[in-house]
Amino acid sequence: MKQHPKQARLPLETYLQGIQQGDRYMLSKTITLMESRLPEDAEKADALLNQLMPSTGKALRLGITGAPGVGKSTLIETLGTYLTQQGIRIAVLTIDPSSTRTGGSILGDKTRMPTLSQDPLAFIRPSPAGNYLGGVGRKTRETMLLCEAAGYQVIVVETVGVGQSETQVRHMTDFFLLLLLAGAGDELQGLKKGIMELADAIVINKADGENVKYAKKAQHDVKNALHLFTAPESQVPPRVFTSSALQQESLIPIWQFIQLYQEQTTRNGFFYRNRKAQNLHWFHHTLQHFLEDHFFKHDTIKQQLPLVEKQVIEGTLSATQAARYLMTQWLS
Ligand code: GDP
Repeated sequence: MKQHPKQARLPLETYLQGIQQGDRYMLSKTITLMESRLPEDAEKADALLNQLMPSTGKALRLGITGAPGVGKSTLIETLGTYLTQQGIRIAVLTIDPSSTRTGGSILGDKTRMPTLSQDPLAFIRPSPAGNYLGGVGRKTRETMLLCEAAGYQVIVVETVGVGQSETQVRHMTDFFLLLLLAGAGDELQGLKKGIMELADAIVINKADGENVKYAKKAQHDVKNALHLFTAPESQVPPRVFTSSALQQESLIPIWQFIQLYQEQTTRNGFFYRNRKAQNLHWFHHTLQHFLEDHFFKHDTIKQQLPLVEKQVIEGTLSATQAARYLMTQWLS
């Protein structure tokens, strides 16, 4: 086993070489550096990422979402193992909304994906959802780029289907998979129209045993519902599958569709057009957060904000006037 230096912070070259050699330990350390809130760490991480940019962009980026318990980690475990069996290196980034509160993942990814977490071709890492400024998605996207530079060929970004994280994930992935469950009755569980519109494929999971008939019915209903949506920009109509995440063979058609999607969108130009639009999106997203960060950390703003807020609450100052006043203070 390779020996690694134990110091908390290493020279930039060491991180760089580690990533370029696909060293998982060094990849982990670099991600930690990237997630650090210390400005000097962030600067180093930015410099690193900048140097690594030419080696990014070569992976297939998959977003997976669904309500807790729908079978996301089981599906990733089974599909991921299928891929590593073919020699494909896969990185899994799980956005854990609880991580801001606990300071770590309470979902325990190692136990959620026991086989994959032992697999030398796989890398699993919880990514903080973070509600601090710029935290949502930005670090995840940067982590994804680092994984690409380290040679991972498929990057899965997993998010629990709550809140805004799935829209963010949609903006950083090539293909978006939504997992649903069929209820014991007619209804589909966890179905939100907004999320359905983001999906390139919808999978009704746990289609095994008694549940098969409900899953088939749900598949039919979802297909009908999809007809009401406008055609996607990718020009590849979303497909609806039933699966049992416990059975590898039931996931193969899904993987084949993902590959077909990549082929077709590469041919029709959407794949790279979308990537370019995403680059621009993340630039604007980051810029916006930098501005916000700068604004709220500004001494005068920190002083004035509570007073202005009080007046807004009491109705003695209009929201627009208050905002304008603070902007002037910030810029003066
Ligand atoms: P997640 O919260 O979406 O990641 O869901 P998990 O993958 O942890 O799955 C929740 C539970 O459902 C676990 O006990 C799994 O073993 C089980 N499960 C997941 N997929 C399937 C499936 O396709 N069929 C059946 N019968 N159980 C499943």
